Amino acid sequence: MRIAIASGKGGTGKTTVATNLAYVGSRNGRSVVYVDCDVEEPNGHIFLKPDLDGATPVGTLVPKVDESKCIHCGDCGDICQYSAIVSVGDAVLVFGELCHGCGGCSLVCPSGAISEVLHEIGEVHVGSTGPLAFAHGLLRVGQAMSPPVIKAVKAAAPAADLAIIDAPPGTSCPVIESVRDCDFLLLVTEPTPFGLNDLKLAVAMAREMKLPFGVVINRADLGDRETHLYCGNNDIEILTEIPDDRKIAESYSRGELAGEVLPGYRRMFETLLGRIDLRAG
Ligand code: SF4
Ligand code: SF4
Repeated sequence: MRIAIASGKGGTGKTTVATNLAYVGSRNGRSVVYVDCDVEEPNGHIFLKPDLDGATPVGTLVPKVDESKCIHCGDCGDICQYSAIVSVGDAVLVFGELCHGCGGCSLVCPSGAISEVLHEIGEVHVGSTGPLAFAHGLLRVGQAMSPPVIKAVKAAAPAADLAIIDAPPGTSCPVIESVRDCDFLLLVTEPTPFGLNDLKLAVAMAREMKLPFGVVINRADLGDRETHLYCGNNDIEILTEIPDDRKIAESYSRGELAGEVLPGYRRMFETLLGRIDLRAG
């Protein structure tokens, strides 16, 4: 079973929920892997403290132009949807960070001037922490395309009965790539106007992708009741509400898991996981 944890915006407590679910699942005898797909800013390792293997590089195939064969026809630039290759006068410029590796330019090149070379954009690490398996990826600074790294992290994650996928914030391509094959999507939000706005976008994404989903409201006793009203009016189940508790904030600031150091929260995350099991099973 694959459970993805997402949020329409950053800072809602998504990683707190994801790491705690992975922790309580693995401590209750299940085979669990935590997969951090937030490759621009992975931070699950801060709380789970895994022992990691060496880095495995991740790359995409980008075009390399042999100027001696190029006849400057411009076909490569015309076919590229991403402006990653441009024929300008006597030169062909390649912008590797924009290239999606589709291979289109080398196919259309009439003179065989284009070959493909590996362009490293990030790396993947796997490891474990106690009985919990772990995988995360890291997009190189300056690289724009995280989906290939996300795909690589998911492919490298050790097999387990339960995978907890920690998705990046937002609702754009990297999130779609992270959650696309999950059995259940958990949307973490907070009861503020900004939180509600971004929750609506995340709900639209889940419905468009036809994914079963539910909501966790973090810092539920702050803000207003609009999020509760929205969920009630739109037949969206609130699976749990996490209070704005100083003890959670303190454990977070120390890099500790609330589910490990605060017994009441361990029970809360166990109950949440049980509810998800019932809905995703
Ligand atoms: S491989 Fe595809 S995306 Fe990359 S430069 Fe060529 S046509 Fe553009
Ligand atoms: S398609 Fe080939 S020949 Fe034409 S401009 Fe591009 S690299 Fe040169």
